[in-house]
Amino acid sequence: MTDFDLLFFLKMGYTTNRNNNRPSIPDGWTVIINNLRKRGIVMKEKDCIFCKIAAGEIPSATLYEDDEFRVILDLGPASKGHALIIPKEHYRNLYDIDEKTAADAMILAKKMVLKMTDALGCDGYNIVQNNEECAGQTVFHFHMHMIPRYKGDKVGLGWHTGELTDEDKKEILDKIR
Ligand code: 5GP
Ligand code: ZN
Repeated sequence: MTDFDLLFFLKMGYTTNRNNNRPSIPDGWTVIINNLRKRGIVMKEKDCIFCKIAAGEIPSATLYEDDEFRVILDLGPASKGHALIIPKEHYRNLYDIDEKTAADAMILAKKMVLKMTDALGCDGYNIVQNNEECAGQTVFHFHMHMIPRYKGDKVGLGWHTGELTDEDKKEILDKIR
């Protein structure tokens, strides 16, 4: 396959997933696109604010930076020290990030949480990562929230607990296993 063919595939952009209407890259394209990224052909998505922040084109309060990631303070913090891990390459979210970058992001989260806990004197941490609008994603460039927690703080990340019914349990186990 030539570069021209690869770019043609790329230009066709996102399509809609048949099952749940979420935007997704069709099977096989992720591999093609990740190959292009590795070859330096695709790095950024035009008009993506986090691509520009990660590249340093827009200034940010940067806590850490390496070849793969930039870690910045969130502009609308849930608590003091709320930070975001942002890969320098553009991935919409967990559905299309490559496995190595996802794994490296979690390894970096562990390092940052240890360091930040010491620095901030917080009592715990939430790692939050939203995927698609219905799940609260507002910036469509993969990122992980690191939210320091302080005893008695008013950060609200909870949900009302339901009940795992026998029907749901059977249905889900049958579908997944
Ligand atoms: P999401 O809702 O997509 O999971 O999270 C997006 C986060 O990015 C929000 O917490 C929001 O405050 C933060 N954010 C949005 N735009 C900017 C920006 O330009 N700079 C910084 N530092 N944070 C931003
Ligand atoms: Zn981006």
